[in-house]
Amino acid sequence: MSNQPDIIVLFSGGLDSILAAKVLEQQGLAVRCIHFITPFFGSAKAVPYWRKIYGLDIVSQDVGEEFAQMLRQRPEHGFGKVMNPCVDCKILLLRKARLYMESVGAKGLATGEVLGQRPMSQRRDTLHLIMRDAGVSGILLRPLCAAHLPVTQMEESGLVDRTRLLSFSGRGRRDQLDLAAELGVTEIPTPGGGCRLTEKENARRYWTVLTLLPQAGDRDFTLANLGRQFWHHEGENHYWLCIGRNSADNDKLAAAMQPDDMLLRLRDLAGPMALARSGADWPRHVLESAAAHAASYAPKAVAAGGPVAVRARQGQAEGDAAFEMDVTPQRVGEAWGEALWDDVKAVIRAEARERLAATLHGKHKPGPEDAE
Ligand code: SF4
Repeated sequence: MSNQPDIIVLFSGGLDSILAAKVLEQQGLAVRCIHFITPFFGSAKAVPYWRKIYGLDIVSQDVGEEFAQMLRQRPEHGFGKVMNPCVDCKILLLRKARLYMESVGAKGLATGEVLGQRPMSQRRDTLHLIMRDAGVSGILLRPLCAAHLPVTQMEESGLVDRTRLLSFSGRGRRDQLDLAAELGVTEIPTPGGGCRLTEKENARRYWTVLTLLPQAGDRDFTLANLGRQFWHHEGENHYWLCIGRNSADNDKLAAAMQPDDMLLRLRDLAGPMALARSGADWPRHVLESAAAHAASYAPKAVAAGGPVAVRARQGQAEGDAAFEMDVTPQRVGEAWGEALWDDVKAVIRAEARERLAATLHGKHKPGPEDAE
């Protein structure tokens, strides 16, 4: 790791961010990459691998809680096609990157963005809005399309040679692939992907968590990534059950336990683990219903043809407080249901319409999505 980086590159692990870092390194700058992690994107585990194969100085920072807070308050600039709040996401990450830049005494920031590559968040007016709201105007360089953009302080001061920056634009990847070959980058990440908020299958899980848990936090969204997800509703109360699909899920569920969660598993038979979020506060009949539902995913329990023993434990350690329930495995769709994307989408769109109506009545500051 270089002691005093000149410039901090926001590093997603995608090809564009790799190239942005390499282009700046080629100018002799001390470059440090920062990789942000949330339940929705980012991977701390990948960082050592990237360091090794790309030879870059990369640090990671977890911003999951700030991201969850932004979702709870609803992104000011709305969601994209699914549940991706791209403009607010970029503003948040740039703000965090600026704080990091200041803390290490670097002189500027850079991203791998290319003008016109994404419909909403990489339009010229949106790039400008993002820079303004993140407080990075003049200190944010986009080396892959800099020739199309105003001169930054780093170019003015001579730290960065503008003539060696690029003029990419649009959605094609040909220029990037040619540049990768020129720079000796042979490990090319697959395009797109990486952000679960753009995937309907994940968004329907996240939205349910966001709307049914008053203080949904990064640990809740992390749990939403695991296994099968079910909800049961009784009046104003909502009960969340996650059932592992395989042993890897089971391990992750056990690791995701919070102090008031209950972990359910068959006492005598092999089968999935299930995590009842805040299950220590659930009424007994709901826990029994959850145990019966979870047991229905264990073929051996179903084959037993009668009641099976399920152990419910509060706490991560095997010796923590536990009790047992005898339940008959059964899958009652009405009792434990999953949210459907079409229903979630309708609610997200209804919220967007309300926001637009509030804008028209002067109560809401319009964002770029409102104009589309
Ligand atoms: S796709 Fe995901 S990670 Fe990328 S800007 Fe949008 S919300 Fe952020």
